[in-house]
Amino acid sequence: MTRESGHAGTRRLIVLSGPTAVGKGTVEAAMKARHPQVWVSVSATTRASRPGEKDGVDYLFVSDNEFNAMKERGEFLENAVVHGMAQYGTPLQPVLDHLAAGVPTLLEIDLQGARRVRQRAAELGLDVLSVFLAPPSFDDLVTRLTTRGTETGEQKRARLETARVELAAQDEFDVVLVNDQVETTAERLWELIVREYGLN
Ligand code: 5GP
Repeated sequence: MTRESGHAGTRRLIVLSGPTAVGKGTVEAAMKARHPQVWVSVSATTRASRPGEKDGVDYLFVSDNEFNAMKERGEFLENAVVHGMAQYGTPLQPVLDHLAAGVPTLLEIDLQGARRVRQRAAELGLDVLSVFLAPPSFDDLVTRLTTRGTETGEQKRARLETARVELAAQDEFDVVLVNDQVETTAERLWELIVREYGLN
């Protein structure tokens, strides 16, 4: 498929996804700390902020009404209900703007979101590199889920069930990164970005 020059699709959008609690956020933060030239999309969410999280930095914390209004206005690249708990969505325009400016652009979203981005890629003229972050083993993932400590027992069970389904999805992705050690995985993610964006 050919595309018009100057289209946002000339640079590949990196979509980092994977099972719950595999450490997507931690790997993304480690990579971003070392390589601040990468722009990571700030999602809107209807969940409550956790201690230390900043509105507009970690997430755009919005009400259900605000979220639904954004959705109706077509402002999301993708949106999903995650763990049956809260709505999350990626604002589209900032993603297009950063890609158009040639800035390495990364989404850290759940599997439903990654699928939706792939579905919409052609319509939006986006090139997508989808990266699945896998745990070293399922047992490792279970340990991570049960030591995270921010969820109730019922939430943990829901997340574990989600993880079983999500682990089976890795074949849908362009690249699988095994998150054995955060700093090493973050560097491997950076190397993918360097390759895609032709950075030195
Ligand atoms: P948390 O609430 O723990 O920060 O994130 C819960 C899950 O929501 C994680 O798997 C994270 O990747 C996912 N997530 C965060 N932002 C978005 C988004 O904009 N869209 C989708 N589909 N998932 C998201």
